[in-house]
Amino acid sequence: MDFDLTAEQQLIQDSARRMVGQHIQPVLDSHDPDTPLPKDAMRKVLQACSEIGMLGGRVPTAMGGTELSMVDLGLMYEQLPANVFFGVLSQEVTAARISSDCTDAQRDGVLADILASRKLACTATTEPGAGSDPRGVETRVTQDGDDFRITGRKMWISNISIADVVNVTGAMGKDEQGLAHMVRLLVDQEQSPFEAREIPTLGLRQGHLGEAVFDNTWVPAANKLGQAGDAARSLTLTWMGNRPFIGLCAANMAQQALDKAIEYAKERRQFGKAIAGHQLIQEQIADIAAAVTTSRLICYYALSRIDAGERANQITAMAKRQSLAACEQAISAAMHIHGAMGISRELGLEQMYRDVRMMPIPDGTNQILTLIEGRELTGIPAYRG
Ligand SMILES: Cc1cc2nc3c(=O)[nH]c(=O)nc-3n(C[C@H](O)[C@H](O)[C@H](O)COP(=O)(O)OP(=O)(O)OC[C@H]3O[C@@H](n4cnc5c(N)ncnc54)[C@H](O)[C@@H]3O)c2cc1C
Repeated sequence: MDFDLTAEQQLIQDSARRMVGQHIQPVLDSHDPDTPLPKDAMRKVLQACSEIGMLGGRVPTAMGGTELSMVDLGLMYEQLPANVFFGVLSQEVTAARISSDCTDAQRDGVLADILASRKLACTATTEPGAGSDPRGVETRVTQDGDDFRITGRKMWISNISIADVVNVTGAMGKDEQGLAHMVRLLVDQEQSPFEAREIPTLGLRQGHLGEAVFDNTWVPAANKLGQAGDAARSLTLTWMGNRPFIGLCAANMAQQALDKAIEYAKERRQFGKAIAGHQLIQEQIADIAAAVTTSRLICYYALSRIDAGERANQITAMAKRQSLAACEQAISAAMHIHGAMGISRELGLEQMYRDVRMMPIPDGTNQILTLIEGRELTGIPAYRG
């Protein structure tokens, strides 16, 4: 067992940290903190990620990707500011999902464009009536000669308001249990125009979370991905990696909250001494540090299990659920240590508090992750009646 990063991993972590400092943070700082970034600004962020090989992290080199190990890709994701995290994840995971089963023409066309961030991309599964249960999707896909028509509404989709191309999961009929036969279509805004808008939310306000309506939208046959019925498999495989990535982004925020809490506790004096000298403050600081360390370790471990080729459903679900619960509490505790200053906008902690509250929802809510863990441990699924 070796807990040290290799020299190569140290380089990966340093270059991601430098990339954020030089190319991403200045973009965030020069725009309104409460408004989604303009599309050009988001493209700059994605280009910076593309240059360090991040966007093709889960794409084989034969398909134009960088085929990183999941631990290495996690080291990069950990450095991203939360506001752009889901936008980058959306771009990267859409590339991964396309590469898992695409034609040569799709590889040389849309996939190459997404990897180079010439096209902005997202994956749209969630709908007003189907969230935790993706097999309940009702977006209807019908055949139109060799081509397709798509009708439905997608909601809570990262990047959709700025996307050039959307990987849409729709239903083409149902199986004997009444569950959707899921299919994946690439809907390109230029060929197949659709309407999209932002949904205002509690946190991650410089990011993009929105909805789109497809109204008998024509999609050419060449934009169908994979074989009918493989959409659920493709979603599950990528969710396994996404979960620890989200946990690492939360751990990075909790680390920043810890640094602020320690600095403030050493400066702020009450009852004749620095508050860091009060035992109950030390307890809170120790708890925040424990949250950061355990979150990092469980997420790195979960990613290493995917790299080892194991069925990692249970550990990746556990990693996200545990790290998000710990980091939400840690950021709240760091605010408490700052007293009234903790809720001021000036310090940035209130933004972290709003941002981290968004993170338990995508890629499996806490309840769904618990059920995944339960199913893996007992062999008995508890989802459906
Ligand atoms: C920041 C962010 C980014 C997102 N990005 C995307 C994206 O790019 N693409 C995309 O398709 N979607 C995206 N989503 C949507 C996200 O995947 C869904 O919101 C999520 O799956 C939950 O679905 P829901 O909101 O409809 O809640 P529901 O599924 O309706 O759940 C409501 C509540 O019921 C609980 N619940 C549901 N089923 C059970 C059960 N069996 N047992 C116990 N409790 C249960 C849930 O835990 C939750 O508390 C994003 C969401 C957020 C917040």
